[in-house]
Amino acid sequence: MSAAARDRVALVTGAARGIGAAIAARLAAGGHPVVLADVLDEVDSTAASLRSAGHEARAIRLDVSDEAAVAELPRLLGGLWDRLGVLVNNAGISPKAEGRARRVRDMPADEWRRVLDVNLTGAFLVSRACIPPLAARRWGRVVMIASQAARTKSRIAGAHYAASKSGLLGLARSLAVELGPEGVTVNSVAPGRIDTPMARGAASGTNEAFLADIPLGRTGSPEEVADVVAFLASDAASYLNGATIDVGGGSFMP
Ligand code: NAP
Repeated sequence: MSAAARDRVALVTGAARGIGAAIAARLAAGGHPVVLADVLDEVDSTAASLRSAGHEARAIRLDVSDEAAVAELPRLLGGLWDRLGVLVNNAGISPKAEGRARRVRDMPADEWRRVLDVNLTGAFLVSRACIPPLAARRWGRVVMIASQAARTKSRIAGAHYAASKSGLLGLARSLAVELGPEGVTVNSVAPGRIDTPMARGAASGTNEAFLADIPLGRTGSPEEVADVVAFLASDAASYLNGATIDVGGGSFMP
């Protein structure tokens, strides 16, 4: 456990379950006080289980796509706000109809907008809100949870999802340029197939078919993504900025 981590509050969005919950748990285990933000009520019990393991963890209800709600972050975090050191933009959605993404020809514009709002604009809004405390301490880490769908074709995710995650990588690069001089690094993680409620929502046979493209021969766990995020959030990643790390068992190799 790092002594420095104790003074670096970590805010993780979409942290009620899945990859976000694993990231919050991993950062908490590394000594960070963690704030778990989610739209789901389940976020309370996820944070409570971290507290019962002896960690400092707080749950907040937050829809990352709601600009007014995001503007309340300083108030919601209270005394933790000035100690913010790590932001993980993890909240994301991947709508499916009977386990499959709609094709563009069948996609309602509302669904397109909702995915862009949550996956891309949400990360923009939360990042923008968090810049003042991170820049003020001249040390910070922002990590975007993108997707393999931002790196190559996807037969599982919809066009809205792929577009939002590709946009997230562009946002990360722009922020990396803007915030680097202020001591804040911005990097992305692009998970392949990870066993979470989102992935389990795929139509039967989808995950099995994906396995053929994974040299490691298995899906990943949320904890395997969380370990990479913890590295990016640490002092050990001090010279990584604007990078994307693929965490997919080799399913995508640039
Ligand atoms: P998940 O199990 O669905 O968890 C995502 C969490 O984010 C859920 O609690 C979700 O609540 C919440 N959320 C959704 N919209 C939100 C909003 N507007 N504001 C705040 N929280 C919100 O998904 P996951 O598989 O852990 O995915 C986490 C991230 O990894 C996502 O960005 C996803 O795109 C990315 N990813 C996942 C995989 C994979 O294979 N699992 C692969 C590549 C990338 P609801 O249940 O209400 O939506």
